[in-house]
Amino acid sequence: MCGIVGYVGKKNVRDVIIEGLHRLEYRGYDSAGIATTDGKTLVVKKAIGKISDLEKAIQGISFPGSIGMGHTRWATHGGVTEANAHPHTGCPWTKKLQVAVAHNGIIENYRHIKTLLEKKGHMFTSETDTEVIAHLIEEYANGSLFEAVRAALNDLEGAYAIVVISKEYPHELIAARNQSPLVLGVGKGEYYIGSDPSAFVTHTRDVIHVEDGEIVRITPEGYTISLLDNTPISRNVTHIDWDAKKIEKGGYDHYMKKEIDEQPHSTRDAMRGRIDIENGNARLRGIEDKLNELSILKRIIITACGTSWHAGLVGEYLIEELARIPVEVEYASEFRYRSPIIEPGTAVLVISQSGETADTLAALREAKRQGGLVLGICNVIGSTIARETHSGVYLHAGPEIGVASTKAFTSQITVLTLLSVLLARSRGMSQARGQQLLKALADIPEKMTYLLRPENEQAIKKIAEAHAERNHFLYLGRGINFPVALEGALKLKEISYIHAEGYPAAEMKHGPIALIDKKMPSVIIALKHDPLYPKIISNMEEILARGGDIIAVATEEDGEIEKKAKHVLRVPTVPIELSPLVTALPLQMLAYYAAVKRGCEIDQPRNLAKSVTVE
Ligand code: GLU
Repeated sequence: MCGIVGYVGKKNVRDVIIEGLHRLEYRGYDSAGIATTDGKTLVVKKAIGKISDLEKAIQGISFPGSIGMGHTRWATHGGVTEANAHPHTGCPWTKKLQVAVAHNGIIENYRHIKTLLEKKGHMFTSETDTEVIAHLIEEYANGSLFEAVRAALNDLEGAYAIVVISKEYPHELIAARNQSPLVLGVGKGEYYIGSDPSAFVTHTRDVIHVEDGEIVRITPEGYTISLLDNTPISRNVTHIDWDAKKIEKGGYDHYMKKEIDEQPHSTRDAMRGRIDIENGNARLRGIEDKLNELSILKRIIITACGTSWHAGLVGEYLIEELARIPVEVEYASEFRYRSPIIEPGTAVLVISQSGETADTLAALREAKRQGGLVLGICNVIGSTIARETHSGVYLHAGPEIGVASTKAFTSQITVLTLLSVLLARSRGMSQARGQQLLKALADIPEKMTYLLRPENEQAIKKIAEAHAERNHFLYLGRGINFPVALEGALKLKEISYIHAEGYPAAEMKHGPIALIDKKMPSVIIALKHDPLYPKIISNMEEILARGGDIIAVATEEDGEIEKKAKHVLRVPTVPIELSPLVTALPLQMLAYYAAVKRGCEIDQPRNLAKSVTVE
């Protein structure tokens, strides 16, 4: 999720690593660490907080050797503590192989491996999933660091980019990748490894992109790349030419765009290890202890603010449709001040990206005071909301830095889908239906990647630029895509400062239709396979009859839509229940490119804060 940097070469290792960590700061993190070795000692130091805190902590400490690594952590497993920060080491008493491991990602089967290793006498000192990697490599020590790492990797399931060094092999750095980014930097007689080139771009711009399932061995003499079964790989070096501004954001102009593009990855992380295809069910460890209570729930109140509130509305459709449990969605700021009726059998579900939203926190406390079961969905591990709810599910979306939320929204919907399946399966939804939905959910990241392809992006950009000077927009959707219309309108308001209203498409004729004229475009989500499609087409007719301009969000298969809509944002076809996971993306991009065209401050829009910790 966050950052890795590694170095083999003659420069001062500590300085190269600290500089690399500073360059990776843009990715967001909560703690950091550094390790180097000269064969006599393996020095590992870590600190919570900023890289400057790490620098303070290592003042006066010498980092020997010509090989080292650094890590910025964004906690997924275990709170933000020094012990949980990376690099991780194995058993302190080992005589076999003393390693330091830095890892980005999530090891899905770490509990199982940890239990096995504990039985063999390994002693763990952190709560992370990562620590098992260090102990596993130590367990496989057999006269070659490379072989021990390779053996360990063959046991791991999940996502990782890792860097490993050891006291016994002080001229060897091993790195590997599976579903978390990793690049090799090739300098003159020196080599770098990083989560992205910004970690070392001031030293070399010649890079090799490491692919999933590959392992890299670096020594002062050179590097080799191979597959986990030892098949050698050869790949050409590519040259990157980013300007200084882009270097700061890992090649992107804005965090928001980076986060939009990350959605195939973040959505996959939200479902990682949580889909049990065989049983057609979801596995949500965070709420496992509450399964009995959940199976007899009579009512759910979802409470949140802003984008999380929109995700809550999608959750309402999903839970009612699949699990047949009545759901109400309340703004947290309203919920906290009314007298909510929380009877036995009512659960309150709070949603917040940061886990610190003041209104949501107050709503949570009010619900608890009334004796309700309170569940949470948040992104930041160990946040106040995460700590105060009875049980909850993390998004694992990685840090979201752009103030306008994008990837957290789709991760929230992914988790809500999993929760809906879990609730539905405990009250009669068939295994086959569960399997069908979860298979389709597992395909979503690929569909998102397809949607985000450059031609489609260019098409969306053109439409956004053509409308960037308009002052008012209407966003319309029906059913499960009504909340997406609200979210689309919110994105446009937040970053481009264009006035936009979201409405259920059919509600338009009860008021907003009065606003329609040539100057006010309507963005309408109209999916051909939606049972409400014919009705949405009628809503379009109403707009056309009043001279309005239509931008439709439509599926690839819809060859008719151009007859009604002047502009079309295409999305791949996915089951209607999951369609918000694709329809949200073109609306995020529409807002983004309109704001770019208007010259707005994308990542820090005026008057807005990322984490709203005031009432
Ligand atoms: N899952 C690991 C942890 O929680 C790595 C997190 C990261 O990618 O920074 O420590």
